[in-house]
Amino acid sequence: MTEATIFDKIINREIPATVIYEDDDVLAFNDINPQAPIHFLVIPKVQIRTANDINNDNAELVGKLYVAAAKIADEMGFADNGFRCVMNCNPDGGQTVYHIHLHVLAGKALGWPPY
Ligand code: C5P
Repeated sequence: MTEATIFDKIINREIPATVIYEDDDVLAFNDINPQAPIHFLVIPKVQIRTANDINNDNAELVGKLYVAAAKIADEMGFADNGFRCVMNCNPDGGQTVYHIHLHVLAGKALGWPPY
């Protein structure tokens, strides 16, 4: 059985989060430990544990994370300046919550590479 994560509690409104976007498939909320002036997470409402679990069956849902990110970027007015989408995978990728999430970082010119 798939172990629930803290993001299930956010989806079920069992713990608070600043939700900035929601539709039938995805939820977006501000990261509690922001790494940029704008930093939010876009997650699917059903759990996919890691990027390794993305496949043809859930590809459309994963694509909707990016659709939501682009829509929010447009609505918040930072689309043209730009932003970064990151999905960390497993320990070397820095993943700590095993429910895939797209980090969206914006609000400044971001450094690269990230190490
Ligand atoms: O990619 P990674 O798994 O490390 O990212 C998890 C992210 O979830 C962190 O940036 C952390 O700040 C965020 N988080 C959150 N709200 C929580 C728990 C974690 O925004 N309640």
